[in-house]
Amino acid sequence: MPTATPDLAHIDAVVERYGGERSNLLQILIEAQEPEGWLPPAAITRIAQAVGWPRGRVEGVASFYDFLHLRPAGRYRVRFSDNITDQMAGSEALLDRLCSQLWVERGKVSEDGLVSVDSTSCTGMCDQAPALLVNGYAIARLDAARIDAIAALIRERIELAQWPAELFRIDDNVRRTGPLLAPGFAPGAAIAAAIARQRAAGAYLAHDGSALLVEELKRSALLGRGGAGFTVGIKWDGCRRAADRERFVVCNADEGEPCTFKDRVLLARCADLVFDGMTVAAYACGAQRGLVYLRGEYRHLLAPLREVLARRRRDGWLGRAIAGEPGFDFDLEIHLGAGAYVCGEASALVESLEGKRGVPRNRPPRLVEVGYHGHPTMVNNVETLAAAALIALHGGAWFAAIGTPKSTGSKLMAVSGDCERPGIYEVPFGTPLAELLAECGARRPQAVQVGGASGRCVDGAEFGRRLCFEDLPTNGAITVFDDSRDMFEVARNFTRFFAHESCGFCTTCRVGTALLDRLMGKIAAGRAGRYDLERVGELNRLLKIASQCELGASACNPVVDTLARFRPAYERRLLAGGFEPIFDLDRSLLAARLATGRDDAAAHLEGRS
Ligand code: SF4
Repeated sequence: MPTATPDLAHIDAVVERYGGERSNLLQILIEAQEPEGWLPPAAITRIAQAVGWPRGRVEGVASFYDFLHLRPAGRYRVRFSDNITDQMAGSEALLDRLCSQLWVERGKVSEDGLVSVDSTSCTGMCDQAPALLVNGYAIARLDAARIDAIAALIRERIELAQWPAELFRIDDNVRRTGPLLAPGFAPGAAIAAAIARQRAAGAYLAHDGSALLVEELKRSALLGRGGAGFTVGIKWDGCRRAADRERFVVCNADEGEPCTFKDRVLLARCADLVFDGMTVAAYACGAQRGLVYLRGEYRHLLAPLREVLARRRRDGWLGRAIAGEPGFDFDLEIHLGAGAYVCGEASALVESLEGKRGVPRNRPPRLVEVGYHGHPTMVNNVETLAAAALIALHGGAWFAAIGTPKSTGSKLMAVSGDCERPGIYEVPFGTPLAELLAECGARRPQAVQVGGASGRCVDGAEFGRRLCFEDLPTNGAITVFDDSRDMFEVARNFTRFFAHESCGFCTTCRVGTALLDRLMGKIAAGRAGRYDLERVGELNRLLKIASQCELGASACNPVVDTLARFRPAYERRLLAGGFEPIFDLDRSLLAARLATGRDDAAAHLEGRS
């Protein structure tokens, strides 16, 4: 049975290992939770005393993250990924199978405290779905046999470390390589090239970094690969020019967007390329410290990545006077996330790195001016940093020759769903979607979700569009839906995801995503009328203009897109004979709104009639 008396010696050791620093609070909480699987009140009190924060504040941080538990959660905590790709691959039936084998109800802890079985947002294993996490470690390619094996291991109370290693094997599924995924990158090669270029120009490294390297980045026209597509050279230049000399480089490895898993593969196969990218970013902007924010779902990568860092320190690619360059001192560390999608937003990620709740900041100021602990901070996506390493190595002109004029370079596409060969395809920007669909063996595709839940849904008429910022922008997630799929259910899955992941900071997003989720439930239950469909547009407008971050702003995208392209999937669920409300609140208040001159109420109603 779980105990409410925590192992205080363990907690003290964890706190000591992290120097009792508040900015390590999330890491402390993650590790303090490990022996019992939850954080008893006494553990929170002890940690609060150690870091010198009020107890309520520490509890508030712990309550923000899905993977931290303030109540007993079971010695084995099983969480099935409930992304649409997992559901399409049969995750619901497998979840029920495990529950019945372990005599536990979904979402509850077994009476003996042994196990809990629940679901969680996308775990980033869409190419080998269905998948689950057990005590934070991923198991993919689930089927009945693997579920039975997991049930037996739990029933026999076998320690996780003794489970067969094959269960935890995660495949890379690389289907097509390009410059990023090409084998043979020598660790440190990009750093050496950047230093050589600097020396060849007869320039010495100033405290504010290498203007030469920033120029090379600008020449490449590299756009950020996380989805927003900001010009990387401008961001780096902003950090380099900041007055504050204490600067940070942050790698955003928190790819929580449903259907996205490209960074997982880059980190597993090309860690040296990514770390070279972080180090040249530090060289460019004069940073001395770097932080990787690794999503909690990729915990299996933590130990191998730390081994790579240790090797790079031994080889002189991290530490003081890197590659013999005086004044070039840089090292980095890895922080683990704990199941909060919103932390993929750069400012929320920085808050989380500081040991706080991952709530997006008001901007301005920009992070390159006021970032980690108030210092200039460059936050870049994993793939962006890998591309930056190649630019340092081969030059900006070489990079700009790949892709299209406004979308230079190659792009990793994480392909999943109804296709023969799901996995990673590295293609030049500008590749037609149809070409990718043919290559991955898409089966009778009726729709493709481009860019994950917050991206865009396109139908067959748009498969000729090109994957690039000029036409169909994407963070790299490509999810195929064949003609048997119900696109209403696809949108409903994404809607539920946004409602669950809203951080709750803005009322508009907190309430709006819940309203949208409820509206989709009403449609699914056959209780909605045409009036309810009209409300989607109103909600979308409201969320777009009044949300603090992209989560709220894009929450309606899946519904808006599928309504426009697959309206029959909605209409066949509406109340037979239609439904008109007997009371129209807007029309009733019209006289008062016009009298007060509050807005263009009349025009609004005109548009609705
Ligand atoms: Fe949080 Fe949503 Fe507001 Fe973003 S838009 S800050 S997720 S409440």
